[in-house]
Amino acid sequence: MRIVFLGPPGAGKGTQAETLSREKKLSHISSGNLLREAVENGTETGRKAQQHINKGQLVPDKIVVDIIRERIVKNDCKNGFILDGFPRTLSQAIVLDEMLKNLGNKLDMVFYFAISKESIVLRLSGRRICATCGANYHIKYVPSLEDGICDKCGGKLYQRTDDKLETVLERIKVYHEQTEDLINYYKKNGILKEIESESNVESITENILKVIDNASKSASFVNLGVV
Ligand SMILES: [Zn+2]
Repeated sequence: MRIVFLGPPGAGKGTQAETLSREKKLSHISSGNLLREAVENGTETGRKAQQHINKGQLVPDKIVVDIIRERIVKNDCKNGFILDGFPRTLSQAIVLDEMLKNLGNKLDMVFYFAISKESIVLRLSGRRICATCGANYHIKYVPSLEDGICDKCGGKLYQRTDDKLETVLERIKVYHEQTEDLINYYKKNGILKEIESESNVESITENILKVIDNASKSASFVNLGVV
C-alpha cells in the first residue's frame, strides 16, 4: 500500500505516520529526513541536492523525487510506504506520479489531515523545547513541573522561532495556498481521504485504520466480481 500524508503543520501527521507504519508494516518516509540522509551519505543525488543547498536554493522537485525513488525500491518498502512531507505542490505530485508509473506503481491513498487554524495555533504556539537536552513540552498538554524549566535536566525551555504565533499563522497561510490545487488533484483522482484531526491521537489512528480496512475490503470485493 502506497500512501501520502497531507496536512498543515501541527496536524499530527508525523505521529500518525509512525503508528500506521508499525500497524501496517509500511515504511515511514519523511522527505525532510530523507533529504538530510542523502546529503550526509553523499549519494550521487545527495551531492546534487547539496549543490543547490549550498547556493541557498530550494532542491528541485526532480532531485527530491530521485531520492524518493532510491528509497522506495529498497526491500523494506516492499509492503508499501507512507510518504510524509512530500508532495507539497501540484507540480511535485505530477512528478511523483510519473516516477511511480515508471516503476509500475501508483499511489493507493492520500490522507488529508483537516484541522482548524485555531487548533494548529494552540498546538504549535504552546510547544517548548529544552535548550540543554532537547526534551519536548507543551504549556497546555505536556507542561513541565516548574514553569520554563526542564523536568529531566533542569535546563531552560524555549520556543522555536517557527512556533511563534506570527510565524505559525504565516506557515498555515502558505500551506493552504500551496496545497489547494494539490488537494483538488487527488480528489479528482478519487484517492483523497479526509481525516478529521481535531480529536485525540487514538481516535484519529482508529479512523485511518478504518478507511484502509474498508478500502481493502471493497478491493477484494471487486476482485471477486471479476472472477
Ligand atoms: Zn532538559
